[in-house]
Order: sequence, then C-alpha cells, then structure tokens
Amino acid sequence: MSDSYTSFVSSQVGGRLTGALGLPQPTELRRFTPGDLLAAGPVLLGGHGSAPLAAQIGAMLQAGDVPVVSEVGEDRLSAVVVDLSQVRTPGDLESARAVLAPGLKALGRQGRVILVGRPLTDEPDYALGAARRALEGIVRSIGKELRSGGTANLVLVADGADGAIESTIRFLLSGRSAYVSGQVITVGATDVTGAPSPPSWERPLDGKVAVVTGAARGIGAAIAKVMARDGAKVVCIDVPAAGDALVKVANSVGGTALQLDITAADAGSRIVEHCARFGGIDVVVHNAGITRDKLLANTDADRWASVLDVNLMSIIRMNEALLGAGGLRDGGHIVLVSSIAGIAGNRGQSNYAASKAGVIGLVRTMAHDEALITRGITVNAVAPGFIETEMTARIPFATRELGRRLNSLSQGGLPVDVAETIAYFSADASAAVSGNVVRVCGQSLLGA
Ligand code: NAD
Repeated sequence: MSDSYTSFVSSQVGGRLTGALGLPQPTELRRFTPGDLLAAGPVLLGGHGSAPLAAQIGAMLQAGDVPVVSEVGEDRLSAVVVDLSQVRTPGDLESARAVLAPGLKALGRQGRVILVGRPLTDEPDYALGAARRALEGIVRSIGKELRSGGTANLVLVADGADGAIESTIRFLLSGRSAYVSGQVITVGATDVTGAPSPPSWERPLDGKVAVVTGAARGIGAAIAKVMARDGAKVVCIDVPAAGDALVKVANSVGGTALQLDITAADAGSRIVEHCARFGGIDVVVHNAGITRDKLLANTDADRWASVLDVNLMSIIRMNEALLGAGGLRDGGHIVLVSSIAGIAGNRGQSNYAASKAGVIGLVRTMAHDEALITRGITVNAVAPGFIETEMTARIPFATRELGRRLNSLSQGGLPVDVAETIAYFSADASAAVSGNVVRVCGQSLLGA
C-alpha cells in the first residue's frame, strides 16, 4: 500500500534521477497534525472591487496569528486568496490575473490557492454568468500548473452566506485538504446561510456521536480515527465476518462496535437502537461499499444487484429509520461516499458506477429536501479518486501506477485524505455546506 516511488523522488538522489528522466515528480504531501498553525507563512490577499470576503478572511487569519500581505515581498507565501465575489464581466477577471501572476511565483511548497466567488443565479445577465463561471476554468488550470504539492480550489458563497465560510476556508488552507484540488465548494447552496463557530477549531466534533459504516478497515477505519481525533464518539459498523478487525478499530478510537450487514431490512433501526445509549446521532457516514467488476455484457443479475444494494439501496433504506424518531438529531450531518467512477464511469464497473452516480443523485435530492433543510440537516458526498488501500493494492502493477499518477499531484491519496474531507462536512461549523460533492482525487484527469 505504500507509494515507494514518491518517497524515492523526495530523496536527493531520487529527485535528480527522476527529474533527468522526465518522470513524474510527486511531492510528499504535508498532512494535518493537531496543533498545526492555520497557515505556515504569509497569505497574500487580493480581489476585485472592495473584496469584502478578502477583508473577512484577512481578519480571521490575523486572529489566528497568520501574517496577511497585500503584495508579494521577500518571504515565500503559504497561500494566495483572491476574492472575486464582485466580478460582473469577463473584463473584471484581470483582477484575478493581477494578483495571481506574482502570487504564484512567490508561493512556497505545499502552497494553497483559494479563489472566492459567487454561484450562478437565474438573473439574465449574460456577462455576469460568464464571468462567474470563468473562475472554475482559472482554478482548474492553476491546479494543473502548481508544483510541489500545491492545491487550488474555488469557494462559491451564496448571497447572505458570507458569515458561514470559515470552516471551508480553514479546511482548504490546512493539511486536511492535502489531496483536494481543482474543486468547487458552494456555501449556502440550499439557502442555509448561517453556521455556528465551534468552541474549539481543534476539536470541531467534540461531544458528537458519529456512525461510520464499513469501519473495519481502509477508508472507514481512517474516518473513525479522524472523527475521534476531532472529538466524536464513534459507532463503528461492519459485517460480522470483519468482527475482530472492527473491535480493534472501535477500541483504538474509544468508540463502540456494531456488527451489522447494512443490507439487512432492519439495519437502520438497529443503528438507532444501538445509539439510544448516547441519546441520538449527530453524524452518519455511509462509507461501506463493494465492487463486483465485470464488463456489462458479462454482468449477471446477482453481481448487478449486490453492488447496487450495498452501495445505494441500503443507504436509502437505512436513512428512513435514521431520519426518524431517536435517529439523526436536528442540525445533524449525513455524508456519503461516491467515487470518481460515478462521475467518469469506468470499464468493467457499470454496476459500481451506477451506484456511485446514484449516490450523487441522492445527495442532490436530499440536500434540497425542504423537510431536511428545516431540520438543519446537511447532506454531502466525497468522491475519492485513487486511494491507497487494500482494494487498490490488488490492482495489477501497471494499471495501479497509471491510476496513481494520472492526477495533478502525481500520487495516490491516503484514506486519511478522504476522512479529513468527511470530518469537514460533519462539523456544525459547516452547517451552510450542503449539496456538495467534493472529489478527493488530487485533481484526477478521470472525469475532469
Ligand atoms: P474496503 O473494501 O477496504 O472497505 C469497505 C468496508 O465495507 C469493509 O470493511 C467491508 O467489510 C465493509 N462492508 C462491505 N459490505 C458491507 C455490508 N453489507 N455491511 C457492512 N459493511 C460492509 O474499501 P475502501 O477502499 O475502504 O472503500 C470505502 C468506500 O470508499 C467504499 O464506498 C468505496 O466504494 C469508496 N471508494 C474507494 C476508493 C479507493 O480508491 N479505495 C475510491 C473511490 C471510492
């Protein structure tokens, strides 16, 4: 499961050799450790017009003792943040170039670029629509130009949601988003525009009860670990056959283990019953998933049904009970796990891609359900790309190398990268973040 090529490139000899041969140059990514500063060096802030969000982000950074600059100086920058919320025509985009051109030259290793804009509206203002959408092209191109582990992402802030962006900006600046690049996150997409500040940004899930399915190994085990680190009591769920591994994970995070096949008709009510001892549930992460790959022409009904049942239908069934009495509390969060296969499709994975595309449909539909919005429940998904797990370790070498390198960071992600994005969605500070599908894929070329 280790990516020894990335470690080799990071050594002096390896770096020189692979550079001379024109091979990919992945940088070992800096991931979050508790106690990290919000940003390791000065942040360049700029924008168009009065750039109100830049001012707000600047105040937030300064409160966290991060130096903020409006022009490039001697020091390497840790991030460049450009507020383009006031662009109205494509001509206004020059403001982005004017900040980014010098800013990118001064950006240090593992640098962060964050553009801030507004979502498209129904207003028939053609130039406005064009200018707003243009930001996606800029950010995705920067993601492909950055070297040394840099990332670039776009935050779209709906009108009225300016006060609810802190969790998103913190996530994108920090090592928590090391493998997230070329993404667009909308704050206030469902017209929920407020979000509370947590008592501690270090432990944003303090006192929360989080249910994680498929927690015995891989990405699920990493989710349990990260949620516990952020303060949650974690209920770890997996099939009885994975019972020993499940108990180990649950014990290691101070949580509880529930052996359960999520396809059982009563799975949702059994989870609710188990969590009654904690007084309810704050977060549900539907992570469990399976693959049964075959070309569609050779896929029989069993292979088709089993993948759709575990990856999609069980979620819909469980949610019925989880959203009922004694289940998810008002203000709670549901996070689903899709896949880039659900966005791009994949040869031999029509059943899997159907289930993971279905997950995206589920997020879009649930997030806009007035009944859930009224209860303050958010629904989002992550779509992992190539993540180093037992599942991907079994892929034949050549295909695995290809999957690993075909992204802007030239490496596979780690389970913790998916877990960090899920933890960001799971915090009350992200109450205005709903209906998003964030790819954790290092800006994979697949489905780009
Ligand atoms: P994994 O196979 O290592 O772990 C999945 C876990 O789910 C296992 O512990 C398994 O026992 C459990 N599970 C399966 N069926 C279950 C059922 N019916 N009831 C309860 N538990 C069940 O997989 P992973 O790589 O950790 O993937 C986790 C999620 O991420 C899956 O939804 C997967 O589709 C998705 N994903 C993974 C990758 C990747 O590169 N690894 C990429 C995209 C998406």
